[in-house]
Amino acid sequence: MPKIVIAIDGYSSCGKSTTAKQVAARLGYAYIDTGAMYRSVSLFFSQHHVALTNPKAILDALQQIHITFNHNARTGRNETCLNGLNVEEEIRKMYISNIVSEVSAIPEVRYAMVAQQQKMGRKRGVVMDGRDIGTQVFPDAELKIFMTADPTIRAQRRQIELLERGEMLGLDAILENLLKRDYIDSNRSEGPLRKAHDAIELDTSFMTLDEQVDWVIQLADEKIASLHRKGHFNPQDA
Ligand code: C5P
Repeated sequence: MPKIVIAIDGYSSCGKSTTAKQVAARLGYAYIDTGAMYRSVSLFFSQHHVALTNPKAILDALQQIHITFNHNARTGRNETCLNGLNVEEEIRKMYISNIVSEVSAIPEVRYAMVAQQQKMGRKRGVVMDGRDIGTQVFPDAELKIFMTADPTIRAQRRQIELLERGEMLGLDAILENLLKRDYIDSNRSEGPLRKAHDAIELDTSFMTLDEQVDWVIQLADEKIASLHRKGHFNPQDA
């Protein structure tokens, strides 16, 4: 069967990552959390006091950043590694959420991350979630989903997620962060958050995770079957 690229873009905390992860597992595809990459860059910049206004320092820092994803067989969880160190917990903390949109708006940061993401998906068979996957990273993705949800519901979901990680925060602070990130992400010059013209929109406000996953899987199955009927195959199978 042909393998496809599934791009899942949308606003912060709409359930993109959780859905993408499960879709990838069901299809036997790789899952790439591009938000984790921008969060890792932000962590590195924060730890090394990289001034966001200093282009040379930014380029130097980017040269020293190596991001990988590792599946921990013991915990069954995916881990983001920054220069070999598991930073999965650290990058989800609020102090990173508070700086990540400014860091990811820097064009040099985007060029470096987009190039890596394109490399990771060049053999197809990936589910990638982010903000610019369907527009910039894989404009030729066979399936593009754009997720939205009511902001208050998104903030409530994020609050539960943070609590599970041991961080207790008020709903107002979380909502403010989500809206601020959405604003910066949508208004930056390079790779702004946009619905691709050929993306299918999904409002997850009143959907369970299982419903979201089933919905994407159904679309993916239809796409794969249609490509198969048309005689498409994977370049690496040639
Ligand atoms: O997906 P997540 O909420 O973890 O992403 C964190 C931040 O990373 C986003 O708010 C956005 O600023 C940035 N991001 C991006 N492009 C992507 C993925 C994430 O700019 N493809």
